[in-house]
Amino acid sequence: MNGHFAAVDNGNGSSPDSNAHSFEHGIQVINEDKQYNTNLNEYLNETHVAEAGFNYHLISVFGSQSTGKSTLLNHLFGTQFSVMSERERRQTTKGIWMSKNKNEGKMADNILVMDVEGTDGRERGEDQDFERKSALFALATSEVLIVNIWEHQVGLYQGANMGLLKTVFEVNMQLFLKDKQNQTRSLLFFVIRDHIGVTPLANLRNTLIQDLTHIWSSISKPAGLENSKIEDYFDFAFAALPHKILQPDKFISEVQNLGSRFIAGHRNKDSDATDDQELTGGVFLPEYHRRIPADGLSIYAEGIWDQIVSNKDLDLPTQQELLAQFRCDEIAREVQIAFDAAIAPLEEQQAESTRAGKPAVLPNLGQIGAEAREKCVKNFETQASRYHKGVYTTKRAELEDKIDNRLKALYQAHLTAAHKAGVTAFSEAVANAVKAGQKAGGAYEFAEIVEKQKTKTLEIFKKEAQSLAIPGVAWSNFKPQYLIFEKELDEVSARLRKEEMRRLAIRVERWVKSRLGDAIGLEFNKLGSGRGGSGAPESGEKPATEKDIWDRVWKAFISIVGEAESRFTDRAKSFEASDDEVQVGLWRLRRKSWVALREKIEEEVMESNILMKLRENFEDKFRYDEDGVPRIWRPSDDIEGIYTRARESTLGLVPLLSRFRLTSTSAPPDLIEFVGPQPHGVEPGDEEDLTPIGGVDEDEGKSLEEETTILSEPKKQDLVVRFKKMADGVYVEAKRSAIGGITQ
Ligand code: GDP
Ligand code: MG
Repeated sequence: MNGHFAAVDNGNGSSPDSNAHSFEHGIQVINEDKQYNTNLNEYLNETHVAEAGFNYHLISVFGSQSTGKSTLLNHLFGTQFSVMSERERRQTTKGIWMSKNKNEGKMADNILVMDVEGTDGRERGEDQDFERKSALFALATSEVLIVNIWEHQVGLYQGANMGLLKTVFEVNMQLFLKDKQNQTRSLLFFVIRDHIGVTPLANLRNTLIQDLTHIWSSISKPAGLENSKIEDYFDFAFAALPHKILQPDKFISEVQNLGSRFIAGHRNKDSDATDDQELTGGVFLPEYHRRIPADGLSIYAEGIWDQIVSNKDLDLPTQQELLAQFRCDEIAREVQIAFDAAIAPLEEQQAESTRAGKPAVLPNLGQIGAEAREKCVKNFETQASRYHKGVYTTKRAELEDKIDNRLKALYQAHLTAAHKAGVTAFSEAVANAVKAGQKAGGAYEFAEIVEKQKTKTLEIFKKEAQSLAIPGVAWSNFKPQYLIFEKELDEVSARLRKEEMRRLAIRVERWVKSRLGDAIGLEFNKLGSGRGGSGAPESGEKPATEKDIWDRVWKAFISIVGEAESRFTDRAKSFEASDDEVQVGLWRLRRKSWVALREKIEEEVMESNILMKLRENFEDKFRYDEDGVPRIWRPSDDIEGIYTRARESTLGLVPLLSRFRLTSTSAPPDLIEFVGPQPHGVEPGDEEDLTPIGGVDEDEGKSLEEETTILSEPKKQDLVVRFKKMADGVYVEAKRSAIGGITQ
């Protein structure tokens, strides 16, 4: 805006000034250079009209130069429009001025008055460009047009004022060209000045209506509107005022009467009159209102004026849509400020905590979010719904979309954080409870622990998810996230149960190892007695023989594994392991048990161990007689014979011990049957730590024969050699002691 605007009533085109005080006398809306003053909105704000919605009225005044228009307005509305000085009688400025009614009280709220100056160019021989433009502007915006006219001009059909009316009618047609459905009408309010009183107002009215009809028929009407009547667009009202200077008191009181008509009114349905005889109440009929919300008036007027100045066809519906778009965007920005103030800090907090790797669960997020959203949308609705419905609906959806997207991102990240925190808390709680249970002696119910913690964790998450729900907003239903969370807890539970199974398996395996250590050690120790066949049997059992050592080992093994299996099964069932999981656990247990047995046997037949056992076995046979009495060697004794028998008997153990064979079948135990087929539920990790078993795991290239071979051929021979050396030593010693006994 580079023109000069006067915001005060001097009409001299002083520079624009947005200072509040400068609006005291109104504002120049259009200046003499036909420029629009964008400060109008500020003026409307200053006068509190902007916040009035539709509760305002716009009036324009028309009439020949120096007919006392400004004087009338100033008296009617307490305005301070520029009045030509009595002495100079000269006025050159053009422009449109606006001021708010200052005589509120008996009149309608928020009346805005436009004083159109310098319209009547024809009087001064100027072109009528400004006249047309300002008339069009006034018609597009105003509800009531006051036509100011001297009494003596009434009936002068050719008079300048009639030319002005012709212009008004013509430009009015333009408004309806693009918008034939337009339902708005205007009131032409004729104020007859210097009414002497000789001719009654009714007669003047009739004359004027005749003239108006004449003018109407004389104007050229655009295609489609040829048959339109003046009453299709205008209502008429009339008033007469006495001479201001000659009858000042009467003038004042009549102006007051006139002022009382500027209130809301309605149409008298029964009447068929075309003028104010059919109006009841005041002059402001709802159908005159242009339905431009006050806070959009300035922008709307600017758009209208732009179109008028550039001689474009005025398309009011389009202007209203443009206005709606502009204003809805503006309002959307405004209402988002509060939303932003509430939400941005949370977004920041969340982003920061995410960057730090510890996504935060924000307290009260749902409440803050829902409130901010509701306020934002409500504020938008309050202001923007006054504008073009279609535009408003679209912009509202856009706004909701925008703020919802932010909330959605915030909420989802929030739930992701809650999800993570929940899973961690759950895992930790279960682990802690298990630890506590172990400390307290291992009597804890894993399934119970899991169930309890799951319920607790789910409840917390559910509350969090539900606190985010916004009634009637579909996306804020986070049931799916809840279900995902529940599913994850189940997965974590399964994992924890698996770990628990592993712990159980390790405990049971340890137990098996320790039991095997005792039981198998015992069987091998029996070898040392050498009188396996005839020695004292233990606690009434069937007498053990050296020959059935593997039967006894196998039996002890089967019994220990059987017990371990039932321990494992009981415990696993107690924490609701699945059948598959139990079967895999048992399968692993059997395999590990066999390997443990194999290791225990290896330990027993380690060279030093087995050699000692053989020696004990041999010495027992050699040094003791059948009754278990130690022999005292005498030279007459068949030392050599006893030695040879004992030695051969002990040596007979070596092939027996070297292969795991059951006496019943003379074959190795059926490890394939013992281990059993691989169960369904075996997962890759389940096999990793398993030692292959010959003959069971076929692809291992090791046969059952090899698996059950305890001493290899070279080891066996080595053992025999060493044993013989050792036995020889014992024999020599015995011989010596026999001879020694004689010499003694
Ligand atoms: P405008 O150009 O139509 O706005 O007229 P103004 O209000 O500036 O008044 C022009 C002149 O007419 C001034 O000198 C006023 O004093 C005078 N005037 C104002 N009201 C009346 C009136 O009711 N009767 C007469 N005769 N003169 C008036
Ligand atoms: Mg004036």
